[in-house]
Amino acid sequence: MLEERIQRRLRKGVIFISGIIAVLLLCGVLFSAFLSSSRHEAARGQISAEAEEYRSRIIKQLKADSQTLSTLAVFLGSEDTGEKQQLAEKMEEANEQNDFLTMAYYDTDGNGVLATQGMEPAVGARLSDLAPEGRSVVKAALEGRRSVSRLFQSEASDQRVFVYGVPVYDGENVIGALVASDHIEIFSDILSGSTVLAGGGYIHMVGSEGKFLVRSPNTVVKEDLNTIFDGPYLADAEKEEVREALKNQAEIFGKFSYEGKEYPFILEPVGVNGWYLFCVDTGEWLGMTSFGPARVLQITLLGIILLMICMMLYGYRLLRGYNRELLQMAYHDPLTGAENLLRFRQRLTDALHHTGGSVAALSIRQFPFLAELFGTEKTEQLLCRIRETMELHIRKDEFFCRDTEDRFYLFLQETDRSAVRGRLEALLGEMERNAKIGGTDYQLAFYCGVAMSGVCDDPEETAVNLMSHVQFALDSAKGAHSSYIWFFDAELHKKEELENYIEGHMHQALRDGEFRLFLQPKKNLHSGMLDGAEALVRWKTGAGKMIFPDQFIPLFERNGFCVELDLYMAEQACRQIRAWIDEGKNPVAISVNQSKRLFFEADYVQRLTDLVKKYDVPARLITLEILEGLALENADELNEKIRRLQARGFRVSLDDFGSGYSSLNTLVRLKIDELKLDRGFLLSAQGAEQARARLIMKHVAAMAQQLNISVVAEGVETEADEQMIRSIGCDTGQGYLYSRPVSAAEFDEKYMREESARRT
Ligand code: C2E
Ligand code: CA
Ligand code: CA
Repeated sequence: MLEERIQRRLRKGVIFISGIIAVLLLCGVLFSAFLSSSRHEAARGQISAEAEEYRSRIIKQLKADSQTLSTLAVFLGSEDTGEKQQLAEKMEEANEQNDFLTMAYYDTDGNGVLATQGMEPAVGARLSDLAPEGRSVVKAALEGRRSVSRLFQSEASDQRVFVYGVPVYDGENVIGALVASDHIEIFSDILSGSTVLAGGGYIHMVGSEGKFLVRSPNTVVKEDLNTIFDGPYLADAEKEEVREALKNQAEIFGKFSYEGKEYPFILEPVGVNGWYLFCVDTGEWLGMTSFGPARVLQITLLGIILLMICMMLYGYRLLRGYNRELLQMAYHDPLTGAENLLRFRQRLTDALHHTGGSVAALSIRQFPFLAELFGTEKTEQLLCRIRETMELHIRKDEFFCRDTEDRFYLFLQETDRSAVRGRLEALLGEMERNAKIGGTDYQLAFYCGVAMSGVCDDPEETAVNLMSHVQFALDSAKGAHSSYIWFFDAELHKKEELENYIEGHMHQALRDGEFRLFLQPKKNLHSGMLDGAEALVRWKTGAGKMIFPDQFIPLFERNGFCVELDLYMAEQACRQIRAWIDEGKNPVAISVNQSKRLFFEADYVQRLTDLVKKYDVPARLITLEILEGLALENADELNEKIRRLQARGFRVSLDDFGSGYSSLNTLVRLKIDELKLDRGFLLSAQGAEQARARLIMKHVAAMAQQLNISVVAEGVETEADEQMIRSIGCDTGQGYLYSRPVSAAEFDEKYMREESARRT
């Protein structure tokens, strides 16, 4: 669910960021397009205006040249054109004043005079010697028309030239033709001008077939080309359009590409001889015009967009990383890096949608004491090693998690009991071998509960049930000595039902007084007298059924109800003592069992004090039995509590000493009044290693006495037991030998009477 939420959030983020990036890119593209189109617009306008300008300059030049020629023709018309020598001199003179390459005069018979710059004028030139282009100009002039020839290669000057021709009149009659040739380079200064398009372009002149007539030296295309169609620079479609336009003498805009760059151009007809101006925009003028700042703006905008995109991508990566961390935190155990219970439950539900399987819960025996014995660091390493081993052991689609402490859950796709057992035994065996506590040869022991399910209809409910069943199986495995792998079965099912009953009825039972005070006497071994009693709870249900504390205390410790129950029992003890006092009996001390939770409640000391005040009983008659496990967690705080309790008169007893990994350390550290040796101590003192066990017990008792702590032995069942505890120096005995726990009334009846009797 969390994963989905995070995924959804991430998806939203991605969509949002992509949207913004798309909008930014679109803005950028639109702006660029706008700039580039305005640039093109402007370029077109500029280039076309410039082309027009050059065109008119060329026309002007041509007109001026032919005007000069016409003036000369009028002048010649008034001369005697028959006198060739004289004519030749005149023409030479005229030619010197003009820039024409050659001037010639031909009469209607085709005889002519030729004046070439830097040469003697030639008399007797024949029209037939002229190049065909020249001839046709002469012909046209003789017919009374002025014209300009196409370009052609002049043999005389070995240059590409063209020829102007004008008729020479005598009155109304054409008497000859005056022609002048010039090489095309007269336009060069116009065309090669580096001023074209403010230096950002150049102009060629081409003929109507696209042949270069004048090629600007500024050209971007460096190759030697004959026509504008040569080379791969014009696209095929473009070529067609250009050809069509040239045919129609129309103006055309186009573009060609060279070395990966595109160049817009315009072909502007000059209006003479099919000549064209081929103006190319090299784009460099942009830098010098008002487009400079626009370009800067465009680049800046692009930069900003790129920066924003980078920032967003960075932000996205950050978000993704953060989400991944969040998932990691939400679904993983920070210590071992394994998945946690939350994730396990989810995956279990998912898995049960498709298949049946088994859930196993694993724990290490005596784990709480391992940390005490070997230190936190080593036990943490141990847990990591367990995780590694599990990882190697599971198959595809199987998974596991670490819950708290030493609790691991494992899902196996196995529904056959012996197959599950086989795999778990292999796994536990391997863990016992691999997961050693660093630097020690401490032999780890695991216990394990299993619950199985076939393919089910309701995966959610099945998952919940499996998790509850496996808990029961694990608890059973913990208590069992024979088998360390327990399967949830009918018996456990009954236990589960009982627990359900307990949880469902505990509040009502407390209200209705179903929890009864039972008392078990403690015998003073020195005097043989009654030394006190331990309060032990019994639950007598409305239906008359008796439920024993082992069946509900562990559950109440888990669900917290023990806080209320323990106080209730303490109150019952106070009430009992009050009753004895009121009845004139000599009251005995009552020990009450205190759970861990209650002991650490903030107002615990106050509530107990209020109780003894309420019943007006001396606090020294109440002994509080606490468990050794308490000392493992917070010895300082515990000692502080003990000190405060003792200051108010209560006695504090350490219960079940020797049942776990009791250490003498605890004994020395805690300022207790009484030590209760667990029945396990007694049992071991009778077992195979009795000599050793006795020795230890003896030392414990001796040490306790030195510390002014009285020693009580629990579970004294036989005379031999009593003999034994006497021999090691215990002060008090408690057990079936003296009495089973009995109801308060029975205790009153049996012991208090006796006591009063004995005392009176
Ligand atoms: P415990 O405090 O160690 O109490 C002694 C247990 O040993 C009692 O079991 C008692 O009936 C049993 N016992 C006494 N003499 C002998 C004997 O000679 N041989 C054997 N084998 N057992 C003997 P019980 O009453 O079933 O209580 C079990 C545990 O439940 C107690 O162990 C105590 O830890 C817990 N408990 C009982 N009443 C309360 C209570 O009011 N509050 C809390 N927090 N825990 C309680
Ligand atoms: Ca006890
Ligand atoms: Ca005990």
